Amino acid sequence: MSVPLAEIRGLSVSYGCDDAQSFALQGVDLDIAKGRRLAVIGESGSGKSTLALALAELLPPQARIEGTVGWSGLAHAPVAGRDIGMVFQDPGGSLNPVLTIGEQVAEGAVRHLGLGWRAARSHALALLERVRIPDPQAALRAFPHQFSGGQRQRIAIAAAIAAKPGLLIADEPTSALDMVVQAEIVVLLDTLVREAGMTLVFITHDIALASGLADDIAVFQRARLVEKGSAQAVLTKPAHAYTKHLLAAQIDFSTPRLIDGVGDA
Ligand code: ADP
Ligand code: MG
Repeated sequence: MSVPLAEIRGLSVSYGCDDAQSFALQGVDLDIAKGRRLAVIGESGSGKSTLALALAELLPPQARIEGTVGWSGLAHAPVAGRDIGMVFQDPGGSLNPVLTIGEQVAEGAVRHLGLGWRAARSHALALLERVRIPDPQAALRAFPHQFSGGQRQRIAIAAAIAAKPGLLIADEPTSALDMVVQAEIVVLLDTLVREAGMTLVFITHDIALASGLADDIAVFQRARLVEKGSAQAVLTKPAHAYTKHLLAAQIDFSTPRLIDGVGDA
């Protein structure tokens, strides 16, 4: 039996428009097991990012939130950046173009681990090595625009884990990258999470990508959690029609098709 890190109960979120029916999340009950890798899967707009922001208490002020997120696996309520590391789709957005890589990766260690800048700089150097940035010593003094998209995402991951968070939330971290780089980032996340014993929440619309990484899977459709379970169970014996549809679409995708749309209902 796995120990829960977090228990989400009856979580509903709407973004405060007049239409009370427009929920971004509705009635979600989900446990996040400590030390396991949870893939959150669903199409665009299904509420995945809202879930990530709710976990990190980063929802905008206009969001109306019902339900609870309990952290029975932690001694105190988590602080984003310290206990929860976040990686987003666009690494350009999370890296500041006018600060050096060294400053940005070291910052979390200065702020949350209480390291001085000199110690934090060595910590940053070690992190850049761990995420396999070539010539990490030179990278410390370089700026984001000097790196490729995949390398920027590696740097963003290094910054996200600088304060040694117990939970890493990666929200579509590979969606802006080409397929080869996507696979490399997934392998990197897998390795880092194993080494550090971190819990991972990996958000994606790509069930194939999730299947390579996940211990557990939660499937969202239109604000609702429609299926959850071990990756093995969800992938081999999907219970919900939408999960079956995602898996079937995946098989379609890898099978050459002569005429688009054949077989569609
Ligand atoms: P996903 O990450 O699965 O694409 P999101 O959680 O981003 O889904 O969005 C869920 C729903 O909430 C969508 O209908 C989206 O338009 C809406 N939404 C998300 N963020 C905001 C926001 N800041 N203000 C208003 N509506 C939002
Ligand atoms: Mg999203």
